[in-house]
Amino acid sequence: MTMDHLRRNFLQKLVASAVVVPMLSPYRALADADPASTGGNQGTTLRVALMGLGSYAARVAEAMQSCKRARVAGLISGTPSKLQEWGTKFGVPEKSRYNYENFDRIKDDPDIDAVYVITPNALHRDQVIRVARAGKHVICEKPMAVNAKEGQDMVDACADAGVKLLVGYRMHFEPKTLEVVRMRKAGDFGRILFFQGLCGFRIGDPGQWRLDKALAGGGALMDIGIYAINGARYMVGEEPVWVTAQQTKTDPVKFKEGVDETIQFQLGFPSGAVASCLSTYQMNHLDRFFMTGEQGFAELQPATGYGPIQGRTHKGELTQPHATHQTIQMDEMAGILLDGNTPVVPVDGEEGLKDLKIIDAIYAACETGGRQELRLG
Ligand code: NAD
Repeated sequence: MTMDHLRRNFLQKLVASAVVVPMLSPYRALADADPASTGGNQGTTLRVALMGLGSYAARVAEAMQSCKRARVAGLISGTPSKLQEWGTKFGVPEKSRYNYENFDRIKDDPDIDAVYVITPNALHRDQVIRVARAGKHVICEKPMAVNAKEGQDMVDACADAGVKLLVGYRMHFEPKTLEVVRMRKAGDFGRILFFQGLCGFRIGDPGQWRLDKALAGGGALMDIGIYAINGARYMVGEEPVWVTAQQTKTDPVKFKEGVDETIQFQLGFPSGAVASCLSTYQMNHLDRFFMTGEQGFAELQPATGYGPIQGRTHKGELTQPHATHQTIQMDEMAGILLDGNTPVVPVDGEEGLKDLKIIDAIYAACETGGRQELRLG
């Protein structure tokens, strides 16, 4: 079998087992005409403009070259040379290249369905709202914003504009992750008792935006701890009702006021399950999820890196084949935005907002030393 066959088989299995598909299959149109050659969207390919042409956008753009249902159709950048270079590389015509001043004009661009915002965290709110007002669907990178108030503004703006808001939670489409979710739903672990999420790396260049509160909105928790927060929710399958948290800082010069270096936090769930998590910019080799229930366990390590994800459960190794996360994500998001598909683990603005409410509560718990109650609905 060729890689393409393997991949297609895998995607078909993924769709059959993991995605609620109201129509036949999001992959039904693989053989349809290429919209690029027909000059219009046939309802089969999601035409995406990328905003913020930095390192993660480069990874997304490369991965999208292998998409069946999504392609790079527009670019938004403050750097003219990047627009030129990326435009040539990804075949984006000059008329669909924008800068941060004029991208509201995307409203009149019939060749773009959605904008993927991949800029520093604190810019997401205003950029997403502008895209919504331009009448385009929005995909926004994590964290969706820097606090729940901003997140709510974004959810409201998209609802008002009648566009969909999705968050770039690539793990929600990752095959081994989805297998653990499937097993948990099937009752294979019994009643869930405990989740552990460890997320961290040693951050380098002290001058980068991730260490600037004004652009990052915080520190490691915003950037990497969010994987443990989000993971706790989709692994346990419940919304937490309380949080406690403790912060430690060993380098106050590098990690200034408002930029967290290391936070340990605990989440409590309605069933009585608890989570214990670590978020840090000061330790390497931390990318691990572990969950145990009355009848079994699951372990993912690495759990959230670009992969391959590896893991095992009490039943043995997880063997689902690796596929580039951003490729599957964008194909699945095409199904959500164009066909109204419902993913197994939500990726909408409400999902992003829940994580932001938990982040707010973790910071408040660090400040007060006390337990914060959560009402996520
Ligand atoms: P980056 O620094 O590599 O890229 C950011 C881009 O935004 C750059 O091209 C920069 O020029 C542009 N930009 C626009 N306005 C800016 C301003 N005022 N200040 C600084 N830069 C500005 O960062 P990145 O790693 O690509 O991260 C971008 C977003 O993607 C973040 O929200 C991050 O959390 C998210 N991200 C997600 C993943 C994932 O796996 N889902 C991985 C990496 C990053």
